Amino acid sequence: MGQAIDARRWTLDDRANMSKVRLIIDGTEIEVDEGTNLIEAAKQIGLEIPHFCYHPGLSPDGNCRMCLVEVEKIPKPVIACKTVATEGMVVKTNTELIEKARSSVMEFLLINHPLDCPTCDQAGECKLQDYYMDYDLQPSRYKEKKVRKRKMIDLGSGVMLDEERCVVCRRCVRFCREIAGKEELYVQERGHNSMVATFPGKEMTNPYSGNTVDVCPVGALTSKDFRYKKRVWYLSQTDSICPGCSRGCNISIHYEGNVVYRLKPRENLEVNKYWMCDFGRYDYKFINEERRLIPAYRKDGVFSEVSYQEAMSYLRETLTSYDPLNIAFIASAQESVEAIDSFVAFAKDKFFADTVYYSKNDPAQSYADDILIAKDKNPNLAHIQKLGLKEVEAIAKDIQAVVIQRNLSESDLGLIKKRGLKVLVLFATNYTKVDERALVIFPIPTYAEQSGCYVNCDGMMQSFKKAFDAQGEAKTIQEYIAEIGALL
Ligand code: SF4
Ligand code: SF4
Repeated sequence: MGQAIDARRWTLDDRANMSKVRLIIDGTEIEVDEGTNLIEAAKQIGLEIPHFCYHPGLSPDGNCRMCLVEVEKIPKPVIACKTVATEGMVVKTNTELIEKARSSVMEFLLINHPLDCPTCDQAGECKLQDYYMDYDLQPSRYKEKKVRKRKMIDLGSGVMLDEERCVVCRRCVRFCREIAGKEELYVQERGHNSMVATFPGKEMTNPYSGNTVDVCPVGALTSKDFRYKKRVWYLSQTDSICPGCSRGCNISIHYEGNVVYRLKPRENLEVNKYWMCDFGRYDYKFINEERRLIPAYRKDGVFSEVSYQEAMSYLRETLTSYDPLNIAFIASAQESVEAIDSFVAFAKDKFFADTVYYSKNDPAQSYADDILIAKDKNPNLAHIQKLGLKEVEAIAKDIQAVVIQRNLSESDLGLIKKRGLKVLVLFATNYTKVDERALVIFPIPTYAEQSGCYVNCDGMMQSFKKAFDAQGEAKTIQEYIAEIGALL
């Protein structure tokens, strides 16, 4: 993770060594780490001090003035995002003066804001809507004509800007500068003409751009990928881990029924802080599309989808026609710890395999940086390596056929073809290039349809949860292994 982030947010170890200060917020005495600002201090007693421009992962800017609070012995209200808790401080967040100040800030922010809520994608998760209900709730006194601005501006990287909705909190500007390390956005003009923009003739191109949509507290920045697809109140959320690379960013899957609509980052200060990359963010479509949902087999040269029972009995016939010692098992660095362990145990216990092999996602062009994106594009290679599995190119000479846990990389598929190895069984989430060589294919669930764990590049084991049930006739590897074991 880049230094800019670590400099502002402490790790859990740092926190354990920090000195503490005691203060009182709205009559409740609390102890917080030295250096904590009042917004974060209030969170510890479950109190949200309203704010637009403050974000815990970015430097405080203090421009929206929504987080005003009263502090004893200070004559004027102060902004909570830039006021650090000190020993003996007495803070009041709900006085008449503060309520009035918040209402005035809201009135200013809404002067030129369009009445867009019915068509705005942010409706339902918009801070401006929420705070209007909490702190304003009055009709506008502004009778003049609103300032009109441009809508639907493509900033690049799938981010759309609606200038009229922007509250100029500069979170997106700070995100690009401080986290993505790119000067791509700035605020142009002054006063009510102030507007976020890319530099003339430039586009936003950084691979973390999707986070600007997440940090935008209103509907000014929306995602081209998600906008107008689904109202957010229809979506359910499940905690998960991104399988896009070995970083293992913590994410939430947002879905309705068994259709995934978007992925969002989830806070984990030890792994991804508050962010995720765009590769991981938009790599969910394979869960919805091109899914293999029914078992299939190739018999007498004809490939067809068949019932589970037919596939199982053909599998038994096929597996038992080979000497177990001539069959190699290829595990997948894309699968969970549980699925890999069960596959490896099956190979060793039922087929007396001394060596189990593995295949990994290994694209020719593999982007990596020192922010989040890791070179290894597998969520669980660390676990495979701990088990001592070998690469496909090391497959022993006497092997005639293989059982594949899930897909093969291009280069591994090339090796299998070159060696003329039969693919006896392939477990698959989607249609793949390996299909044409497989004798039997069984559908398995994606990470959204099962629970399990991955071990990330720092050796941290993290669990992910099932969002919805496996589709079609898919079963987990563990279920198949138990049933095939009994059959044999
Ligand atoms: S576009 Fe959104 S995040 Fe950026 S300044 Fe405007 S309101 Fe803030
Ligand atoms: S950095 Fe890796 S784990 Fe994180 S979101 Fe991107 S692809 Fe997923």
